[in-house]
Amino acid sequence: MSNKPANKIQDLQYFGEFGGVNPSISDSATYTFLHAKTMLDTFEGHAEGCYLYSRHSSPSNLYLSKALAAMEFTENANVAASGMGAITSVFLQVCGAGDHIVAGRTIYGGTYAFLKNFAPKMNISTSFVDITSLEKVEAAITPTTKMIYCESISNPLLEIADISGLAKIAKKHGIILVVDNTFSPMIISPQKLGADVTIHSLTKFINGTNDTVGGVVCGTQEFIDSLKNVNDGAMMLLGPVMDSLRAASILKNLRTLHIRMKKHSENAKYLAESFEKDGLKVVYPGLKSHKSYELMQSMYNVEYGFGGMMTIDVGNLEKANALMELMQHENLGYLAVSLGFYKTLFSAPGTSTSSEIPVEEQLEMGLSNGIIRFSIGLDNDIERTYRAMKKCMKQVGVL
Ligand SMILES: *Cc1c(COP(=O)(O)O)cnc(C)c1O
Repeated sequence: MSNKPANKIQDLQYFGEFGGVNPSISDSATYTFLHAKTMLDTFEGHAEGCYLYSRHSSPSNLYLSKALAAMEFTENANVAASGMGAITSVFLQVCGAGDHIVAGRTIYGGTYAFLKNFAPKMNISTSFVDITSLEKVEAAITPTTKMIYCESISNPLLEIADISGLAKIAKKHGIILVVDNTFSPMIISPQKLGADVTIHSLTKFINGTNDTVGGVVCGTQEFIDSLKNVNDGAMMLLGPVMDSLRAASILKNLRTLHIRMKKHSENAKYLAESFEKDGLKVVYPGLKSHKSYELMQSMYNVEYGFGGMMTIDVGNLEKANALMELMQHENLGYLAVSLGFYKTLFSAPGTSTSSEIPVEEQLEMGLSNGIIRFSIGLDNDIERTYRAMKKCMKQVGVL
């Protein structure tokens, strides 16, 4: 068995119903049974290979789920209609009234808003901590804590979680470690570092074409079964189900993910190094100046690089906005949220994806309003892009 994420995906062999080279798309919400007894067995989860109803499973969703489980080295996985559908299902499966979560304080705005504003309605509380400090994480654990939650590379500050260190703390306290790996598919393999559950928003790098939202939970067979349980499974009962047509299209894009990740990483590293040399405040996990550079070296799967995400602090929001508008005008990318697209995307997180986080807290965590978050695209000639970006920066007075 290969121990590389891309090889594991390559080794999957799925045939279509008529010998097609892509698996057939299951275009049904419900499924017939030849024998009534088999229906009962399927309901109870004992009938291998039988389908009941597509909120629970569909062939297309299982193909994609299996491929993502292979990529993340987990026993199984279950896809969801969005990243938030996957994330909130995991919170609600693991935690009930009175329970507590320890989460990174620089996480995706939607996850932060859910834990901060929505989960308390169910009496689930969260302590937001500096995830780069193992001491602070451990100190926040209480007798009611059920989970440590973090992003392997955090949004938008690109802080790196010490997954092995966090996993040790989780084990010691008998709780689980859940990692959102959206920024670093293939680059980081959380399960290999000790994480119990790995989540992705498929919307980003994994699908890569910004034509749909999607999510996945990867974990043990037991945990995935619990999420899909017809009596008390969060994914079954809350119903954040992906449509089969989308599962089929995401699976096709997944087949090229390794090539795209390498190119995103190559381009982002070139720009990060160049703009740092020019004297800008650049944050990129592949720069020696990154405060977790050593940790990243010890964790990442070298061949895929350091990822496509970087930030540049241009000083203030006015300059950030002027620069983004000009870059879009010059066709260097889009002023848009999201990431992992073939074209470069940029936004100012303080006023967009992290606007759920109150301004005082943003400042405390080092999120200045001059920060631009870049998701670097698949540009063929990145030196040409660099020259054009630099020209824009000079024009608005950033350089
Ligand atoms: C986008 C994103 C999510 C949410 O995913 P959706 O597919 O938009 O629901 C969660 N975590 C991270 C790190 C993200 O970037």
